[in-house]
Amino acid sequence: MDRYDVLIRGGRLRAQPSRLLDVAVAGGRIAAIGERIAGRADTEIDARGGLVTESFVNPHLHLCKVWTAAMIDELAMQAYHGAAMANAAAAIDLAARVKARYDESWIAPNARRAVALAALHGSLHIRALADVDSKARLEGVKALLRVRDEFKGIVDVQVVAFAQDGIVRENGAAGLMREAMALGADVVGGIPWIEATDAHKAEHVRFCFELAEDFDKDVSMLLDDAGDAGLRTLELMAREAIARGRQGRALAHHCRAMALYDAAYLGVLIPLLQRAKVPVVTDPHTGPLHARVQALLEAGNTVCLGQDDISDAYYPFGRNNLLEVAFLASHLLWMTTRPEIERLYDMITVAAAKAMNLGDFGLGVGMPAHLVVLDAPDVIEALRWHAPPAHVISHGRPVDLASMRRLAGLAP
Ligand SMILES: [Zn+2]
Repeated sequence: MDRYDVLIRGGRLRAQPSRLLDVAVAGGRIAAIGERIAGRADTEIDARGGLVTESFVNPHLHLCKVWTAAMIDELAMQAYHGAAMANAAAAIDLAARVKARYDESWIAPNARRAVALAALHGSLHIRALADVDSKARLEGVKALLRVRDEFKGIVDVQVVAFAQDGIVRENGAAGLMREAMALGADVVGGIPWIEATDAHKAEHVRFCFELAEDFDKDVSMLLDDAGDAGLRTLELMAREAIARGRQGRALAHHCRAMALYDAAYLGVLIPLLQRAKVPVVTDPHTGPLHARVQALLEAGNTVCLGQDDISDAYYPFGRNNLLEVAFLASHLLWMTTRPEIERLYDMITVAAAKAMNLGDFGLGVGMPAHLVVLDAPDVIEALRWHAPPAHVISHGRPVDLASMRRLAGLAP
């Protein structure tokens, strides 16, 4: 008789909703999927007809800023949303004031609480940005590296060294970015659109790719995050990736100016992103303008959703619940048919995994066992309730949800 680490009994897969199936896990991977699998396991889980899917993947979270809202006056949020987001850069300057107080000692507990919430909601992979500039120094990076190591094997955190205040306009940022990568950051993060001139934007992009090449890491960039149709740094990044042969190694975040581009320019930009293998991660709940999700999906580009913020200068809510993010996106992007909701579910699982370059990821025999068991029989019910999963499996092991509740500061 076969012996497994985990046996999930009587669940439903998205592809075969009418059948009750078992999923067996051994050695960190999915060992078998089928009806009434013979064998025993250390942990047997009754799925009670609920959906069994890949765990959730969050490619965009400002983890060094979580729960800093109380430290910042309302001015920042007003500036971010006023005048159709034309003032987003001013909001970043306001939010930067909190960074004068940045210290690893209080950032780490905030981040720990947010990552524990992610585990409770079945979000087991996070690309987490840590600000690197003359005010934040390396405090955010150090805190997130520490939390990344604490959650190893439960939640996999990729720490992005993120030049939030620019490279050219921010004295000392370039040196700090290099130090952050040497400390062990996983991804080089840029924000070229906030530089003052086109030449400076191009220099910012070049710097990030060069640094990423030196450490053989991926690039993540926040692009054109304002209501200005003239912003073009998404195109700039895609062209740089192609010129350097770094296709598939760069991820585009936000790209809100896409909402204002005309059809002719989109007709050039979308195929260019495909050639550069640049996916787009969008967070429709954190601002009034959104990347052109439907156009990207129709063309076959990779698009995914991110949490973006949790209680900081830019967004008052959030709890690392990607089902909640997909629920909000369903309304904000008006994707409400069953096929569209299936696409939204892909955007918080397999598409997001591809965007983060996770490699093997998916619900298939031989794949790493990163799974959730939901109290919902299909994707519509899953989004309707956006409830935490009944069970979470990470690297083939059940996640101890009681200890995650404690770390998240929730009642037992
Ligand atoms: Zn963001």
